Amino acid sequence: MKLKRQKSNKKLLHLYQQIFSFREPFQVIVDADIISTAVAQKLELWKALERTLQGQVKPMITQCAMQVLYVGKNKQQIELGKEFERRRCNHFEDPKSPFDCISEITKYRYNRNRYIVCTNNVSLRSELRNIPGVPLVYIKRGVMILEPASPATLNRRKELEEEKLGVDEEERRLYEGGEPESKISNKKKRAKGANPLSVRKKMRVDDRSTLRTEGMSVGDGNGHESKNRRRKKHSKLNGTENSNPHDYIEMGRTD
Ligand SMILES: [Zn+2]
Repeated sequence: MKLKRQKSNKKLLHLYQQIFSFREPFQVIVDADIISTAVAQKLELWKALERTLQGQVKPMITQCAMQVLYVGKNKQQIELGKEFERRRCNHFEDPKSPFDCISEITKYRYNRNRYIVCTNNVSLRSELRNIPGVPLVYIKRGVMILEPASPATLNRRKELEEEKLGVDEEERRLYEGGEPESKISNKKKRAKGANPLSVRKKMRVDDRSTLRTEGMSVGDGNGHESKNRRRKKHSKLNGTENSNPHDYIEMGRTD
């Protein structure tokens, strides 16, 4: 059971490292409540965090949480709190509840500081599950548990992976000597615009109208011209201002 948990924790941490750029030492925000729990259950908090997160950790405590410990006047709890780096939450003059304090610093730019939050406060964990990429840790019956990734975290991972896949596909095309998707679609559009059939048809209509003005009859009215008439047309046009290369090629053939 323990091995199974270690494996799933490893997988989870890999996700946070790969998708959300978490790095060791992991910064863990602990609240006052978890410190009192650790003291009561004689749990070595720092070591338990390292075991659970399978790497180096940097436990941190906010000014507000430290204030709660000072008010509680439990020496052991205060000593434990002082072992951890103080996180300046800037609520010093107007201390906030652990819920408000920790959710504020974690929500800051979608957990830009890559905090892992260690709290037994159920409503705080529930609140923080709404932010993608916030690992949550709590203690249950003396055992430290890393929560499974929240739906918000999994959705964000899906989005990022899809974005990445799009880029990779583009890179693959370039690497294989192909052209990027955007160029291909442009090419398709160009080809559509320059359909040789439609161009030829247009030319015939133009030619016909030119010939009509010169008093000549053309074809059978269905776009079919006799070879004879075409020759006439070309000999007439030969050496004139007509500079369409297509016409010169045809003239060469018929003359
Ligand atoms: Zn605070």
